[in-house]
Amino acid sequence: MIQQFKFSETLHSGYAQTFEVREVLFEHRTEHQHLVIFDTPSFGRVMALDGAIQTTERDEFIYHEMLAHVPLFAHGQARDVLIVGGGDGGMLREVLKHPGVERVVMVEIDRSVIDLCTHYFPNHSQGAFDSPRAEIIVGDGVEYVGSTDRRFDVVLSDSTDPAGPAEVLFTERFYSGVKRCLKEGGIFAAQNGLPFLQADEVTNTYKRLAGHFQDRWFFAAAVPTYVGGIMTLAWASDDKALRQLPVEVIAERFRAGGLKTRYYNPEMHVASFALPQYVVDSLVD
Ligand code: SAM
Repeated sequence: MIQQFKFSETLHSGYAQTFEVREVLFEHRTEHQHLVIFDTPSFGRVMALDGAIQTTERDEFIYHEMLAHVPLFAHGQARDVLIVGGGDGGMLREVLKHPGVERVVMVEIDRSVIDLCTHYFPNHSQGAFDSPRAEIIVGDGVEYVGSTDRRFDVVLSDSTDPAGPAEVLFTERFYSGVKRCLKEGGIFAAQNGLPFLQADEVTNTYKRLAGHFQDRWFFAAAVPTYVGGIMTLAWASDDKALRQLPVEVIAERFRAGGLKTRYYNPEMHVASFALPQYVVDSLVD
C-alpha cells in the first residue's frame, strides 16, 4: 500500500514493514496480480506483487544463491533444471553459473514480470533470459509439471506466496507433478515462507510432500526483507543422504565450480539444514 512516499507491505495482518519511497517507477494490475516497482534509499529498487515484497536490489542475492546452490551442489551433476516462477531472473542467473547445467527451463505465469524486471532490475537477470541454455515458457507451473515430457535433475519453485496465482504451487497436485518430471536422484526445492509468521506453510508443505517423496525437510536463509525471522525453503528427494553431505564434499564441488558468491558457502550450505526447534516441532503428519 503506497501512501505519500511510503510503502507498507500487506502480506501479514497486523504487522508490516514499511519502506521510505523515493520514486514509484511502475505500478500496474497485470492479468494475474498487482505489480509495483519503487525506488528506496534503504534497499534500492523493490518489487511487490499483491502487496508482498518479492525482491530488492540490495538483498536479492541471499535468497537466489541459497535456493539455487544448495540443491545444485547437493545434487552434484545436474544437467537439466526447471524453475517455476522466477520472473525477476535472479534464480535463472544463479543456476546458469553452474557450468555443468546444460539446460534451464523457466515457467513463469506472468510475462509482464519478466519484461518489467528485465527493464527495472537488470542486475537480477544480467542477460540470463538471453542465454542459449535458457528456455523461457510463459505458463502455469502446475500445468507444466503435470504435462511436460521433459525430465529434470533439479526443480526449483521460486514463486510468490500461496495466494493468488501461486496457490496451486503449494498443493499435492503440484508436488506430484514435480515428482513426475524429476529424474532418478532428483531434488525439489521451493520458496516456503517464514515459519514464525506463516507456520501453517511449513506444516502444510511437509504433509503434502509425504505421498510423493521419501525425504522431506527444509533449509533456512536469513533474508532481511522477508520479515519475521528465518525463511524456510522446502526440500524433497528420495535420498536423505543428499541433504546430509559432509562439508568437505560440498566444498570440493564449490571449489570446482569456481562460483563467486556473497551469502552461500559450503558451511552455510550444511548449516542451513539445521532448523530451530519450533520449526522441527511443526513437521508433523
Ligand atoms: N523471490 C520471490 C519470493 O521469494 O517471494 C519470488 C520471486 S518471483 C517474482 C515469483 C514469481 O512467481 C512471480 O513472477 C509470479 O508471477 C510467479 N508465479 C506465481 N504463480 C505462478 C504459477 N502458478 N506458475 C508460474 N509462475 C507463477
